[in-house]
Amino acid sequence: MYKKILKAIKKYNTIVIARHVGVDPDALCSQLALRDVLRLNFPEKKVFAIGTGSAKFVSMGKLDRLESFSDALLIVLDTPDKKRVDSVDFSKYSYVIKMDHHPFVEVFGDLEYIDDKASSTCEIIMKFLVQTKLLANSDISELLYMGLVSDSNRFLFDSSTSELFSLVSYFMKKYPFDITKSYQKLYMRPLNEVRLEGYISLNMVVTENGLGYIKITDEVIQELGVDSASAGNMINDFNFIKEVFVWATITEDVKNNQIRISIRSRGPVINQIAEKYYGGGHKYASGARVKTFEEAMQLMHDLDQLLLEYQSGVKDDGN
Ligand code: AMP
Repeated sequence: MYKKILKAIKKYNTIVIARHVGVDPDALCSQLALRDVLRLNFPEKKVFAIGTGSAKFVSMGKLDRLESFSDALLIVLDTPDKKRVDSVDFSKYSYVIKMDHHPFVEVFGDLEYIDDKASSTCEIIMKFLVQTKLLANSDISELLYMGLVSDSNRFLFDSSTSELFSLVSYFMKKYPFDITKSYQKLYMRPLNEVRLEGYISLNMVVTENGLGYIKITDEVIQELGVDSASAGNMINDFNFIKEVFVWATITEDVKNNQIRISIRSRGPVINQIAEKYYGGGHKYASGARVKTFEEAMQLMHDLDQLLLEYQSGVKDDGN
């Protein structure tokens, strides 16, 4: 499959690289890394990385303004469904490739490479580079490392296999970079966000079945001086709470007239419930967007019911 992808890349002189809306480090870093690899290996090609950026991730690199083009290849990274691809008019492209690590949702590419066991899309790009022998450099290696570390939540999940560590080791050795600087780019945050984290810890509602959730209204967002994406971005920090098996942030996003919900689990599979509420995602890391807090609470009810079933099927093992 990697060979077929490389063949398509070689065929087109204009290549556009896109990813999902609501940019995150894995989507952005895989996109920027692949763009820079293609520019390095094929300097005669025009390669663009497109989509809406975020001030939070500016230190990772800059996205491009798309020039007018014809007969172009589109590569969509880190996105399982067409509706969540950011800033793309599919009718303008001659050929579409998808490379993704989410569970399969739908076919929208002419060529699709999906590995839902991979920790991240950055891992897939790393493997692609190894297999195709395309050149990289230290900046590209750092980008791939940052995306991988972010999506694996610092190697916390069972996607962190010996194979993954070997792959990371290969890139670090071949293209070294300053790891402490990468962590600063990924994890440095303003005091306001730490205060929001404190607010979540203090006010999280925890049900008997082990669902933890926090409702963050626009008023709280304004008071703390954060933005509507902040709580969702810090959801991974609430792992390993003894009483909580599934947890969610529910944030009012006045600008987009929606309620953003991020959900994580260290117990039952949650993505099918997220799908019922215009969302989706991975088995244990999902998101949804609804219109009202009532709908959000309905989703919480469904998660709580799921936990009730889950708890009755699991013996108390001291966790
Ligand atoms: P988040 O909590 O926003 O980081 O999202 C966790 C996972 O769920 C990511 O893999 C997202 O791609 C996916 N996801 C989030 N929101 C949605 C949505 N509205 N529809 C489909 N998938 C989503």
